[in-house]
Amino acid sequence: MSNRQNTTDVILIGAGIMSATLGTLLKELTPDWKIKVFEKLSNAGEESSNEWNNAGTGHAALCELNYTVEKSDGSLDISKAIKVNEQFQLSRQFWSYLVNNNLINNPEEFIMPLPHMSYVRGEENVKFLKKRHDALSNNPLFKGMEYSEDPETLKEWLPLMMKGRNVKEPIAATKIDSGTDVNFGALTRMLSTI
Ligand SMILES: Cc1cc2nc3c(=O)[nH]c(=O)nc-3n(C[C@H](O)[C@H](O)[C@H](O)COP(=O)(O)OP(=O)(O)OC[C@H]3O[C@@H](n4cnc5c(N)ncnc54)[C@H](O)[C@@H]3O)c2cc1C
Repeated sequence: MSNRQNTTDVILIGAGIMSATLGTLLKELTPDWKIKVFEKLSNAGEESSNEWNNAGTGHAALCELNYTVEKSDGSLDISKAIKVNEQFQLSRQFWSYLVNNNLINNPEEFIMPLPHMSYVRGEENVKFLKKRHDALSNNPLFKGMEYSEDPETLKEWLPLMMKGRNVKEPIAATKIDSGTDVNFGALTRMLSTI
């Protein structure tokens, strides 16, 4: 009799998006491994990964200002923005693989296009956003990123945010249509059934 039946190769603690993703990768790479998942709540994807508990932004540095750090000489370091964007492209490739191999059937239930915007106020922040746009917009990963300081354009881009707002101070925004909205809760639940 083989001992194999009683062997667990991998134990994953917690059934959030991280375990669901790692478990799916391992299952694809080593289908004969036995994987056990332990979750203290009643279902997968109930904690941080749940759709009610995070913003659902597909982080690709399109709108997250903290990924472009201003150096002491005033120039911008965009290396982290590029790295994060490349990592998100890898996630998208993985999800495409799952769809193409019929492991996920309804991608529209967890992923959709959504413009990503950054809004700033005050002279210093406007200068920063302009510099960020100049530094990123020539890179193919950030192609199509628009920049505006014009209140009328910002009213079109952000109608609710601009309603009744004081436009006498300097304001600016960037907008890029290739942003992504991800329902990590739905994705966790889908991956947990593979
Ligand atoms: C307010 C907020 C907004 C966010 N916005 C974004 C966003 O826009 N974009 C983005 O990419 N990320 C966002 N995040 C981050 C993202 O939600 C998390 O990085 C991600 O969900 C973490 O996944 P996880 O699997 O590590 O954790 P979780 O989804 O929290 O899963 C961990 C699981 O482990 C279980 N667990 C814990 N301890 C034990 C134990 N001892 N035994 C058994 N089970 C256990 C928990 O019950 C839980 O189900 C946001 C997070 C927050 C809080």
